[in-house]
Amino acid sequence: MALTERLFWQDPYQQSFDARVIRRLEWEGRPAVVLDATCFYPTSGGQPHDTGQLNHVRVLDVVEHGDEIVHVLEAPLTEDPVEGRIDWARRLDHMQQHAGQHILSGAFAQTVGAHTVSFHLGPAASTIDLDCNELSTQAFDKTEELANRIVVEGHPIQVSQHDEVALQSVPLRKAPQVEGLVRVVSIPEFDYSACGGTHPHTSGEVGLIHIERWERHQGQLRVTFLCGLRAVRDYRHKSRLGRDLAAHYSVALDELPAALERMEIAADDARRAEARLRTRLLDLQTAVLSDTAEQVGNRRIVCHYLKDTDAAGMRQIAQQLIQQSGMVVALGVTNPSPQFCLARSPDVELDMVAMASELAGPYGGRGGGRTHMAQGGGLSHDDLLAMLNDARARLAF
Ligand SMILES: [Zn+2]
Repeated sequence: MALTERLFWQDPYQQSFDARVIRRLEWEGRPAVVLDATCFYPTSGGQPHDTGQLNHVRVLDVVEHGDEIVHVLEAPLTEDPVEGRIDWARRLDHMQQHAGQHILSGAFAQTVGAHTVSFHLGPAASTIDLDCNELSTQAFDKTEELANRIVVEGHPIQVSQHDEVALQSVPLRKAPQVEGLVRVVSIPEFDYSACGGTHPHTSGEVGLIHIERWERHQGQLRVTFLCGLRAVRDYRHKSRLGRDLAAHYSVALDELPAALERMEIAADDARRAEARLRTRLLDLQTAVLSDTAEQVGNRRIVCHYLKDTDAAGMRQIAQQLIQQSGMVVALGVTNPSPQFCLARSPDVELDMVAMASELAGPYGGRGGGRTHMAQGGGLSHDDLLAMLNDARARLAF
């Protein structure tokens, strides 16, 4: 099996290189090559692979396969030797997130004795899982402060190789997962980690380190964080969001929570006032309808289209009217759609369900309910008005 020289370990800042093709293969249905040397970092240790080009062919994926590094390509690569170039913006971003993770994990160990058990570098944000299930907000603030202090102090980030014996004198934060020669990435007197990733030469290049949020995850604490340009972009976005919201409500940013709370209280008050007014309005409508009821024998007939009332209001009015004796009611509304309600007082012997079918049926409408109160719809506005006229004629026989 061929060995690929890992140029990204020798110089993580190297962006282009010349190499010979050792092997051509197919990887999950796509053309792929193994080179004698590469700047392309393969997905490993929580850090995603580089992208870029070999000659003019896009590198879609980079996979570690034994001692080989497989470059998965968009199209077959026939030339040899090849010139490779990695996407530097993506690599720099990965270096910032990865070195930032070392610093943040070291800071958690130092401030609260919490140990990092796993790391994931995601496309938008990165996470570490800590071996504890609760930390105070102050603990996170203190840790973020320490991590950023390590950044601004501009410590060197060093790489060294150690055999098993020499490794015993290195205060590693976590036991290595590999045997033989171990690559140690260290910020002297602060953090020592066994790591195969790519890192900048100084902590200052990591830039801002920001803990975005944290939550319990499978008995551990998952911490989401952003470093470098990601943190700057996130800060810009949130800062503008806050500024625009504050401007929209004409308050200072710090006054926004209190302003929103005041608005919620005002909205609640308005809802309660509206409910009171609605009840009052329905009572008045009921009283007017009752006063204008048509006396036919010992029955009082109310047939009416309620222009500005909705279906719930119509039901409420009908229910109030039939509490009076001898009442027979046919009401209609068009909000939210043409609907009718046929109801009668307990002392009137009429089957309102049968009447609903009888009256709405000719117009293609339908109704149902109970013998003292039926509701229905499914007819047009004009047909609803016609049906109410039919109801009046039918009830005033
Ligand atoms: Zn690392």
